[in-house]
Amino acid sequence: LRQLLDGPRTPAPPRHANSPRPSKVQADELPRALAQHEFVNHYQPKVELATGRWVGVETLVRWQHPVHGLVSPDQFIGLAEEQGLIGELTRQVLRRALRDSREWTSQQRHLQVAVNISMDSLSALDFPDQIAAEAAAAGVALSSLVLEVTESRLMAHPLATVDALTRLRLKRVSVAIDDFGTGHSSLTQLRDIPFDELKIDRSFVHGAWRDASLRSIVESSLGLAGQLGMSTVAEGVEDEADWQLLRQAGCQLAQGYFIARPMPAEELDAWQLRWAT
Ligand code: C2E
Ligand code: CA
Ligand code: CA
Ligand code: CA
Repeated sequence: LRQLLDGPRTPAPPRHANSPRPSKVQADELPRALAQHEFVNHYQPKVELATGRWVGVETLVRWQHPVHGLVSPDQFIGLAEEQGLIGELTRQVLRRALRDSREWTSQQRHLQVAVNISMDSLSALDFPDQIAAEAAAAGVALSSLVLEVTESRLMAHPLATVDALTRLRLKRVSVAIDDFGTGHSSLTQLRDIPFDELKIDRSFVHGAWRDASLRSIVESSLGLAGQLGMSTVAEGVEDEADWQLLRQAGCQLAQGYFIARPMPAEELDAWQLRWAT
């Protein structure tokens, strides 16, 4: 870490073996998978660019499929949304994340835990109360929770969504706008919804150091976030050049393969040791 902050090259972190396989998952398998708890949480560290300090994790779900192995969320989140099962999936992911969070807190690790939430879930009237109840049951402070939201293809209930996000923020839950700058997350949402955190999409981050247009997009996003009082996270920081650019541009947090791949909770200790030395 010290080398990283001071300049000279460090070797890339080892690849984590969680790349998605070509999958043949069937839509009608989801109810069984939920009933059997086949979904597992992986966590990707978020670190402070100025200091290298580890401040949080993003929860990324995988399907531990009995035949196909570890299946990536891109292959089943959309299906779960279409089948009305995303609520139950989110509940399982959130419960596990809250349990892991309490464990980390008991080890004197104060990490913010981010969970991805489909906009669809937000339109449920009691969503903020459900979140509060889950956190209370797990003994986790709502202020250590971050909900990352991306606009889905059709934003069905904009008013209910704004209302839910506002009530969550009143409970001290942080809300992040995910994939900022892509078609799904846009300026319109910044106008309508009060976010705490802006996550710059990785399509703008990786390689921005050698591409003037990407760099402008990154810098304007950071400026906009600053003016609107939001904290900033760059996703897709894949190499040291990405890291240095984001750091110089004043982005607060970074996430990406350069720092760590998403991993099971049991591997975070070993990662932390490597990262901190
Ligand atoms: P996302 O929220 O934008 O998550 C970041 C994705 O980028 C993750 O893919 C992560 O593994 C990947 N990534 C992280 N660092 C790098 C990097 O340096 N380079 C590159 N090329 N990729 C990187 P993953 O885990 O496959 O998740 C894909 C998407 O699935 C997520 O995108 C999120 O939208 C969705 N997702 C994941 N878990 C959940 C969940 O529990 N609920 C919901 N609703 N959606 C989820
Ligand atoms: Ca996310
Ligand atoms: Ca994202
Ligand atoms: Ca993304």
